[in-house]
Amino acid sequence: MSSGRGPDQTKGQSGIFRAALLGLCPQCGERTLFEAPARVALKCTHCGIDLGELERGGRFAGVLTALVAIILIMIAYGIEETVRPPLWLQAVVWAPLTVGIVIFALRLFKTTLLHASYENREDQGE
Ligand SMILES: [Zn+2]
Repeated sequence: MSSGRGPDQTKGQSGIFRAALLGLCPQCGERTLFEAPARVALKCTHCGIDLGELERGGRFAGVLTALVAIILIMIAYGIEETVRPPLWLQAVVWAPLTVGIVIFALRLFKTTLLHASYENREDQGE
């Protein structure tokens, strides 16, 4: 299905969203970037690029997770104040939504970071 598509397809803003959703390697474009929903693999199993080295800024991901969680909690409080939905409904809606948004935010953050540091390395002519 990915035949005829080079890594150039993952560049640009919509490309980053696609790369984050599918977990595309910045070098070969295979779905090897994540070994768990929000954990970057150490190496690409397809082309062997050192993903751990590209992910050096990943420690900031924890800060991002906390920020997303705080924003969601504030939104949840706002809804509770205005609508007052029953507690079971909030649990049903917010638990999976929070997990999903946090995981996607992490993936987007890490994918953007990895692709940016990969392109920087390319520019420096390595
Ligand atoms: Zn690869």
